[in-house]
Amino acid sequence: MLDGLFAWLLLPLGLVLGWALRARNAGVARPPAERGSVSAVQLGGLLHQLESDDPDQAIVALTQVGDLDPGAAELHLTLGKMFRKRGEVDRALRIHESLASRDGIAPELQAEARFELARDYHAAGVLDRAEELFQSLAEQGRYVTAALDAIRTIHEQAHDWRPAIEAARRLEAALGESQRAAIAQYYCELADEAQAAKQPDEAVKFAKRALDEEAGCVRARLQLGGLEMAAGRHAVAAKHYLKAFEQDPRFLADVIEPLQRCMAETKDREGYLQFLHDAREMSSSSLPFVAEARLLAEEGVDPLDRLAQGLEARPSRAVLAEFLEVLERQPDVIASGLDKPAASLRQALVRLMESSPRYQCSNCGFSPRQMFWQCPACKHWGTTAPADDVMRV
Ligand SMILES: [Zn+2]
Repeated sequence: MLDGLFAWLLLPLGLVLGWALRARNAGVARPPAERGSVSAVQLGGLLHQLESDDPDQAIVALTQVGDLDPGAAELHLTLGKMFRKRGEVDRALRIHESLASRDGIAPELQAEARFELARDYHAAGVLDRAEELFQSLAEQGRYVTAALDAIRTIHEQAHDWRPAIEAARRLEAALGESQRAAIAQYYCELADEAQAAKQPDEAVKFAKRALDEEAGCVRARLQLGGLEMAAGRHAVAAKHYLKAFEQDPRFLADVIEPLQRCMAETKDREGYLQFLHDAREMSSSSLPFVAEARLLAEEGVDPLDRLAQGLEARPSRAVLAEFLEVLERQPDVIASGLDKPAASLRQALVRLMESSPRYQCSNCGFSPRQMFWQCPACKHWGTTAPADDVMRV
């Protein structure tokens, strides 16, 4: 008989059989009037529908069962979760709705059914209904942390950052664990929105709120650097970029070029050189060599030796591409005809860099081409950082 069953039906079928045995044994000891509440016909129908892969009829058979003993309730919940996991959210909704609306069921069971129902609505994208149910559960002291976490996620998905901040604060209080890193990211999102709406003062305010929440928030530092630079306050912008690098040297590729521009504006050549020196110490990147070579070239000094040092100390595609670019302009290289192969090699390197992932999530390893402050794969905030030694310009 089992040959004809789908694998996914085996677990609920086992539950149904267990439930049937318990119901039959209990029925022997019960008075005749009560014994009729577990309908053998209904149970037979449910088994038959599960066997013949007719889930909708199985749901009808299940929801019509009169006597809700613990086994039957467990069966509702197991089937409901299974349907949701399979992406059949409408079926999960029907089962959980039926269970949650039953009269006379234990409050714990009703709360569990409502929690699963809220998760169904969430999965179905009916966010307002899901939030309402999670909210009501949290207010009743049921599934408090899970419900508050779900509410926070719902606001994240809807990009409603202020309610997300409020939900994160409530979650922090209920859980006793800091949510400040996430709250800082929500303020950064508000700063991005303000910037997009051409409200730079508001954007600065939100980015500073992010720093109030988490002093080491690299994203807020980068935002403030960009905002201050756009406002012409280059010295202030440079301080933010330097702080961003101090907080996380992996962001060197994102700060090196704006720092060069800010320090050029303030004519702080020594400051820029000191930064490049510190960057060589603090990170394993070859980019400080590339930046220093570009500075020498601007000043009319041949940067080839500096790049050769970089190739020796920190071999990378970025420093090799820069080396080849300088090499192919050398008069003796042009005279010998080696400039063309050098250019071909450089172009191949550039194409290779352009097609490589530039960022990586330290939590799940996802490697996107562009920066995501919330990883699209694992949904963690602030775990993605530059992975590649590539100059942004
Ligand atoms: Zn990730």
